[in-house]
Amino acid sequence: MSAPVLVLASSNQGKLRELRELLRGRIDGLDVDTQVIDAKTAGAGDVVEDAVTFQGNALKKAREIAAATGLIALADDSGISVDVLGGAPGIFSARWAGRHGDDEANIDLLLAQLGDIAPEHRSAAFICAAAIASPDGEAQVELGTLPGVLRTERAGEGGFGYDPIFQPTGSDRTLAEHSAEEKNTISHRARAFEALLPQIVERVARVLPSTHA
Ligand code: IMP
Repeated sequence: MSAPVLVLASSNQGKLRELRELLRGRIDGLDVDTQVIDAKTAGAGDVVEDAVTFQGNALKKAREIAAATGLIALADDSGISVDVLGGAPGIFSARWAGRHGDDEANIDLLLAQLGDIAPEHRSAAFICAAAIASPDGEAQVELGTLPGVLRTERAGEGGFGYDPIFQPTGSDRTLAEHSAEEKNTISHRARAFEALLPQIVERVARVLPSTHA
């Protein structure tokens, strides 16, 4: 089995699956199932996300995990930004109602904050920063966004987080009413990693022996 070359600075298996699909067949000599692994498998611990921007947190995670593992590391940081709230919840999206990862409470609070604000003033965007870092600290970051509007009520069972109240521009359904495949082709995360792809290809090719043959 080939040694891993790329580590995702997360232990989220859904994100790992998405990343492997994005990279499958894109880099000569990269077997995504054995060479792209998650942080826990690589033996890396958690990184404190204390930067004040999506880009800062993604870069911090990528740099720390690359340094800890000796592998090329990828990281992302994401959230929802609501225009009438001046960009909030932003980097605090996961903990907006006070407890990290309480999706239902986060949605309830955001809906209450927007009250009966009219649809034309309920614009928002999902934002994702995707970063890559090498063990020597060299790093890059790209942003991906998915614009849309916030509904006044939940609809749909799919996805996670704020998906049940977010309707992407050009759709008449919430993200929670999109299939996983549909969401993965338009999501802020997919767009950010797509933008970072040339950097990923270039760095991984440098360390894969088969590409130098
Ligand atoms: P993280 O970057 O995975 O830590 O996500 C931060 C938080 O942003 C999540 O807990 C969600 O509340 C929100 N979020 C990020 N991406 C999405 C998405 O694709 N759908 C819904 N909520 C999201």
